Amino acid sequence: MITVPQEGRRRVPTLDLGSMSSQLAEELDAVWHGVVASSAFVAGPAVAIFERDWAAYCARRYAVGVANGTEAIELVVRALGIGPGDEVIVPTNTFVATVEAVVLAGATPRLVDVDPRTLVLRASDVDDAITARTAAVIAVDLHGNLPDMNELTRVADDRGIALVEDAAQAHGARWRGRPAGSFGVASCFSFYPGKNLGAFGDAGAVVTDDAALERRIRSLANHGRAESGPNVHERIGRNSRLDTLQAAVLSAKLRVLDEWNGLRRRVAAAYRSQLPPSIAPVEITPGVDSAYHQFVVRVHDRDRVRAALADRDIETGIHYPLPCHRMVPYRAFASGPLPGAEAAATEILSLPMFPHMTGEQLWSVCAGLADVGAHGPAA
Ligand SMILES: *Cc1c(COP(=O)(O)O)cnc(C)c1O
Repeated sequence: MITVPQEGRRRVPTLDLGSMSSQLAEELDAVWHGVVASSAFVAGPAVAIFERDWAAYCARRYAVGVANGTEAIELVVRALGIGPGDEVIVPTNTFVATVEAVVLAGATPRLVDVDPRTLVLRASDVDDAITARTAAVIAVDLHGNLPDMNELTRVADDRGIALVEDAAQAHGARWRGRPAGSFGVASCFSFYPGKNLGAFGDAGAVVTDDAALERRIRSLANHGRAESGPNVHERIGRNSRLDTLQAAVLSAKLRVLDEWNGLRRRVAAAYRSQLPPSIAPVEITPGVDSAYHQFVVRVHDRDRVRAALADRDIETGIHYPLPCHRMVPYRAFASGPLPGAEAAATEILSLPMFPHMTGEQLWSVCAGLADVGAHGPAA
């Protein structure tokens, strides 16, 4: 039971990991003791069990646990044989890691604009950006929402490029009933602590139905090892393995992922009914059951609103304040202005969103927005 202070407002954080860990305190203690007792800290059965269960959750044949989400993407790009001279289309308003991973793999990102309503990729923008050098497109499931996967799959197939899904923000989201992580040749996940399914440190995974791709990624992530033996290194890989402890934590938390996503959806529905009418949430693609990694609205005079909310102890975030093509290291990767993403970047505001958010906290945010005179950009 949380006790409400007699006076003053309680702080509303953007995310409360503590209440998530508390709910699973006993299981997580058992995980720790189990891993210590086994003395298996890298690989071992706990990793294999999580990989099996995560593949099933994503309706895929294979999952490979890796060290983090960035390397999940980089390894997929490399395993697809994409590198120097190849272009990979990426939406500009993503977490920088999506673009960074393409560069780290030696390929050239080509940053494109997004649908101004949903902030996810549009097939037409992808189609327009394809050149003779384009090898792949990475669709990002931003904020827990997915792009129209039928259209993206069609464009990728028609033009002969690979579709890769960056599902780092969409664990448990669905598009026409199909889970995030089930689209394209491979899908990449991060289990950074703040994601919908979060480890107790860095962790990630790739899921795919392609057996040969799975073997290459597993080998690349483990020093280029061959299946024939631990001392046979058949390619130059790296160390990007999933820790045993993280795998065991993830298995414990996977059991409650759907419950927690359900609570996030309830928070989202409550926001929709209680927000001041002029404040419009970023739209969800038709057919998507969002995982609500973030609940993002668009407001006029965003920085003032944000500061006024902070004065009332209401924390907010911005995902993301600067589209990647506006960041110094990535400027070269767009051919011109990308107006949808640029306009959104000045208006978007991520409201507190976490499974155990109370009705009182939600009310504080909505009342706070009204009190500080927040309104939508068009008003
Ligand atoms: C978090 C995230 C990543 C990177 O994951 P890390 O585990 O932090 O390396 C990549 N893409 C998106 C969209 C993300 O949100």
